[in-house]
Amino acid sequence: MGQRFYVETLGCPKNQVDSDKLIGTLLADGMQPTDDAAQADLVVVNTCAFIDEARKESIDTILALEDQRKRGARLVVTGCMAERYGQELADALPEVDQVAGFGVPVTLGLTRGGPTRSIAVSSAKVPSFDLLNLPRPKSTSPWAYVKIAEGCDRSCGFCAIPSFRGPQRSRDIDSILREVDELEAREIVLVAQDLASYGKDRPDELGAGSIVALVRAVAARVDWTRLLYLYPSDLTDELIDAICDTGVPYFDLSLQHVSKPLLRRMRRWGDGDRFSSRIAHIRGREPGAAFRSNFIVGYPGETEDDHDQLLRFVEDVELDWCGFFSYSSEEGTYAADLDGIVAPALMAERLAELRQLQDDITARRRDELVGTLATVLVDEPGVARSHREAPEIDGIVEVPDHLAVGEFVAVRIIDAMGPDLVAEGVTAAATAGV
Ligand code: SF4
Repeated sequence: MGQRFYVETLGCPKNQVDSDKLIGTLLADGMQPTDDAAQADLVVVNTCAFIDEARKESIDTILALEDQRKRGARLVVTGCMAERYGQELADALPEVDQVAGFGVPVTLGLTRGGPTRSIAVSSAKVPSFDLLNLPRPKSTSPWAYVKIAEGCDRSCGFCAIPSFRGPQRSRDIDSILREVDELEAREIVLVAQDLASYGKDRPDELGAGSIVALVRAVAARVDWTRLLYLYPSDLTDELIDAICDTGVPYFDLSLQHVSKPLLRRMRRWGDGDRFSSRIAHIRGREPGAAFRSNFIVGYPGETEDDHDQLLRFVEDVELDWCGFFSYSSEEGTYAADLDGIVAPALMAERLAELRQLQDDITARRRDELVGTLATVLVDEPGVARSHREAPEIDGIVEVPDHLAVGEFVAVRIIDAMGPDLVAEGVTAAATAGV
């Protein structure tokens, strides 16, 4: 039996794509995957450094896998934590054989030990080695993420991503389409740090607005195309049309707050009125459109009035899905030096209030779907999704177990349980659109 590897992925969908590419490289090197870390010759942890909680989870996972690995197996830590805290991490965790940031070609050699541990984390502004264009294995589920750009050119006050992922680098359309073809998935979920900015960093070849051409080209190849992380100022009419035309009218708007003064302190565009009129415009064009957004609670300087504005917005606009996150100060960011720190107890109170409000809205909107028809994609036996549910993020649609995985099926919604729906099959849908 050849050498085996085990990869544990933490954090966001973008990290999952990196892991898939690592796996593609390891498979091409002749290694075999295993689901059991204790059997692996190579154990890789792809970490997340987004907030304190994610960092703690990454460390706990590294330590747990260190306990499980067999004698002589090599333990490698990669991903955002490795990039951001490479040397510190290597010093704190002598058990780790290699700390490999994005700047490191993934030559995960199998000889344990060696004279020194390799801690080759890139300090360059742009990582010298991108996982972006590496091959990936065919998708094992009916859907797959595809990363279309890496890095970010914005400077949101709370965010450390541009400092360690570097400026935006958009991929060639051809390379994205090749990956889409190779994945052989029914649904492609496009991801990037700032998706709608795709192409702006290559004005001569791609240019601003090239996301529209890309979405149309991907949609011509797969049944469903879904977009995640849209910065609201880039949501043009052309992009809205392209998204609606894919048959997946799902809008994941990265809003973060609605109070204008607070958004400016976050160094972000927009305000509640602009956001709600854009959402109303989309609903006018496509009444079945689904919306998701994320908001930060307790950003420095957030007043009672700012919080009330957010509550009112959430209540009035009734998005399908919302994530609320408490602000976490990130070293080296603009916000780390701001005054007006919100006390943790107050932050927790605001967070709970918003989450409760949104849970009720989500449940109500799901109840309203009972009795309607939908087309769903069956992800696994008994579990499906319509255009309203992004994989791994939103609720699901429970369907009869006999419905074939990887097929689109017409269903009738017969019940709702919080974020999830229950449906029965009607007739097999030949195509993706109902
Ligand atoms: S758009 Fe803002 S929040 Fe998103 S990655 Fe870029 S800097 Fe961070």
